[in-house]
Amino acid sequence: MNDFLRNNFYSFKEEIEDIAIKCGRDYKSIKVVAVSKNFPSKYIQTLYECGQRDFGENRAQEMINKYEELNGYDINWHFIGTIQTNKIRRIVQMADYIHSVWRLKEIEEIQKRAESINKIQKIFLEVNVSGEETKAGLKPSEVEDFVTEVMELNSFGNIEIIGLMTMAPYTNDENILRKTFSDLRQIKDKLQSRYDTIRELSMGMSNDYKIAIEEGATYLRIGTRLFGERKYN
Ligand SMILES: *Cc1c(COP(=O)(O)O)cnc(C)c1O
Repeated sequence: MNDFLRNNFYSFKEEIEDIAIKCGRDYKSIKVVAVSKNFPSKYIQTLYECGQRDFGENRAQEMINKYEELNGYDINWHFIGTIQTNKIRRIVQMADYIHSVWRLKEIEEIQKRAESINKIQKIFLEVNVSGEETKAGLKPSEVEDFVTEVMELNSFGNIEIIGLMTMAPYTNDENILRKTFSDLRQIKDKLQSRYDTIRELSMGMSNDYKIAIEEGATYLRIGTRLFGERKYN
């Protein structure tokens, strides 16, 4: 198992370096969040030993468990899942980044919890670029007003919106994937011209990271390509 993980890790690193070079990007501008959901902490340890520091989880309880098991490890935790308001206190205690914020009531609760522990919480706003009904996120047409509201209410001093996140449709159609990612980038560019802190693009998973990199991703969220297929029980 360790060899499997190490091989995946190093071959993936080489691959994204290659892709970055081919599209004229500095590979160092591309962070890999290793999505460890459904895999035990010892898998995280193996990648940690290879130098990986950023790990992503989509369920609060699972992140709490691993955070505690890996006490003392210098890990950046990324919360990437659906946010339940009653879990926000714990998420804010642990997560360096929250990728999946899109409701004002989540923003309010994150602010409250971050303020109470004197933390600036870095977040991404999730955008439902593809418009699929099953997907979470702001509509593209709502993003600007939402950001303006958050930035100009002035009561969210403990939140830093660092970028936008999206999940592409589950498809192998390159045109659809490319359009999803380039649309997110355009929304981000427009915001960035007004709010300089909004710079990052969290997009690209095991199925579509090549296109995401070509379209400007700065945070990839990669599970299967590193850890193998997840088993759900
Ligand atoms: C599970 C998950 C990923 C990783 O998916 P893979 O296809 O296994 O790379 C990325 N982002 C989110 C939000 C996820 O829930």
